[in-house]
Amino acid sequence: MEKDNYRHPDYYLVDELLTEEQLLIRNTVRSFVKKEISPIIEDYAQRAAFPSHLLQGMGQLGCFGPFVPAEYGGAGLDYITYGIMMQELERCDSGIRSTASVQGSLVMFPIYKFGSEEQKHKYLPKLATGELMGCFGLTEPDHGSNPAGMTTRFTDHGSHVVLNGAKMWISNAPFADIAVVWAKNEQNEIQGLIVERGMEGFSTPETHGKWSLRASATGELVFDNVKVPKENIFPTIKGLKGPLTCLSSARYGIAWGALGCAMDCYDTALRYSLQRIQFGKPIAGFQLTQKKLAEMITEITKSQLLNWRLGVLRNEDRATPAQISMAKRNSCDIALKVAREARQILGGMGITGEYSIMRHSMNLESVVTYEGTHDIHLLITGMDITGINAFS
Ligand SMILES: Cc1cc2nc3c(=O)[nH]c(=O)nc-3n(C[C@H](O)[C@H](O)[C@H](O)COP(=O)(O)OP(=O)(O)OC[C@H]3O[C@@H](n4cnc5c(N)ncnc54)[C@H](O)[C@@H]3O)c2cc1C
Repeated sequence: MEKDNYRHPDYYLVDELLTEEQLLIRNTVRSFVKKEISPIIEDYAQRAAFPSHLLQGMGQLGCFGPFVPAEYGGAGLDYITYGIMMQELERCDSGIRSTASVQGSLVMFPIYKFGSEEQKHKYLPKLATGELMGCFGLTEPDHGSNPAGMTTRFTDHGSHVVLNGAKMWISNAPFADIAVVWAKNEQNEIQGLIVERGMEGFSTPETHGKWSLRASATGELVFDNVKVPKENIFPTIKGLKGPLTCLSSARYGIAWGALGCAMDCYDTALRYSLQRIQFGKPIAGFQLTQKKLAEMITEITKSQLLNWRLGVLRNEDRATPAQISMAKRNSCDIALKVAREARQILGGMGITGEYSIMRHSMNLESVVTYEGTHDIHLLITGMDITGINAFS
């Protein structure tokens, strides 16, 4: 694969809106990515293998739940810093960012937000370092966009509950040590439970044959009369609000991350177009190439400003789920379009693993689908501005 020469585009000097600490952390993550991930990622993606040896380094860098306070093993960083970290990971590969997002936003976040003190002290410090890895089970074979219909259930047996059902499309499932699982109790209320690998009746078969997120491990969670101690249930949260709050946290990271893919594709296409000579001059000198590049940087710049503002609102605890939904949809949408145009600029080279663009393109097909599809996010915005629910 080509050497990683990435320099992020910053047409409107958005970096001036960042603090010195945020810039420093970005440089640290970027150096790690260039040294440890870029040289190996294409090979792992081609082989559809997960580079588990990176987990320790990512944990040491603080990529897992950096917003969790220090008393629980996190770094206590703000949400713009979290976004930047996810952006640096995803501009290299969405699968690597997915691993970090699931760990931080979908496993550590709910334990921090909804867990008992015992649960927080037991799991969070080890999840922050990557000593323990987690996954998040919401989607089921028959309930994706409509998780409220889930059929995974647990029944009360005194000191423990018995869990039955199955989850599908679960990132990190094949290697996770714990799973945050959303299931219905006997009163039909959704609750969250922490299921540990090794509990009898719990298995995590891997999903094969993906053309997307090939360097990320995906699997099922199967519960066959799994006895889960009651102390593993989140004590304070009931209903769909629990998983939806987690999804907002993850969607926020995706908004920053997917934009990283767009920035990487643009950067690659710009450099390539300046070097590639056809008809006696760089292809960057043709009007049709410039149109593509100009439209790309315009969309990227608008999205950088949108994300930054969202980060400010999130830091002030004012970002609404609908605002986060809009940013997730927007970043995925523009990243897919930028990747497609960038691939055209590279001609035949654009389809090879020599460059990151085709891998980004394929990865983004998952990113635009998970954590709510593009259309579901349109309906969220539609409901927010009209007050009318068009989901059903
Ligand atoms: C690689 C990968 C990793 C994933 N990781 C996780 C994970 O870690 N944990 C987890 O819980 N889930 C995970 N998911 C699941 C993901 O969140 C779901 O795939 C997603 O929510 C969509 O659900 P579905 O695939 O069942 O599609 P469906 O819900 O069946 O949707 C199919 C189509 O119908 C459309 N549609 C559905 N309802 C409506 C409506 N009311 N109006 C208009 N259109 C509608 C959708 O927009 C979509 O285009 C992952 C998925 C992938 C691909």
